[in-house]
Amino acid sequence: MAASRIVFLMYHELELSGRRLCQTEPGYVRYILPIETFRKQMQWMKDSGLQGLSVSEAVRFPQQPSVCITFDDGCETDLVAAAPVLREFGLHATFYITSGFLGTPGYLNADQVRELDALGFEIGCHSMTHPYLSDLPEPELKREIVDAKGQIEQILGHAIEHFSCPGGRYDHRTLEMARRAGFRTVANSLFHANSAETSRYELGRVAMLRDMPVEQFASTCQGRGLWKKRLQDGTRHGVRRVLGNRAYDKIRAALLGDRPL
Ligand SMILES: [Zn+2]
Repeated sequence: MAASRIVFLMYHELELSGRRLCQTEPGYVRYILPIETFRKQMQWMKDSGLQGLSVSEAVRFPQQPSVCITFDDGCETDLVAAAPVLREFGLHATFYITSGFLGTPGYLNADQVRELDALGFEIGCHSMTHPYLSDLPEPELKREIVDAKGQIEQILGHAIEHFSCPGGRYDHRTLEMARRAGFRTVANSLFHANSAETSRYELGRVAMLRDMPVEQFASTCQGRGLWKKRLQDGTRHGVRRVLGNRAYDKIRAALLGDRPL
């Protein structure tokens, strides 16, 4: 039997009519799906017989056709928009929280994180202040990974096991720090499906974009066409390695009005 491969989807804030987004620049908004689009995608998953899994469930790599559903940043719409839709369709998910954003406008507060947890959704960590981890000296790296984990665990009253890297940036030290902190997995934003052979500390994820047609969503969930994105991604990473994160972002912003999440 072929090894089970699972695509991990990466969502961010969702757009509700009449509700202000956390940020409004085009580079942010391109990652924001209107709630109607998200609902259509989840409906498609349900109708196609795909299971929606949390990260803990996904890394057991069950043989049934499955997709892992993740959210970054810890926006309030995780609870008020995503959770009701996921529950309606019986889908599971992992929400990665940025601990330093808790209680600020547009983001979850501590009670709401506990509520998501109590609903049966999995809570993970997305750092404390959302920096590029690969740029940080050791003490700051520790704060963003170890201390952030402690803050979220304090709120929940139990351990958390999964981390996702802000802006997808990480290096060897990041992964080592996460491992030592007790995280069992680290997710990035490289476009590849994961299998039992994938390192648990380098789980790839596919960024969901607001203009993605439903056919492309369907092929993404089935792991088709990821090589095209990977090729584009490889170029992006190569350029970034040469320029460094900061110079790369300046150029990217100038060209695209874009920023990484
Ligand atoms: Zn983020």
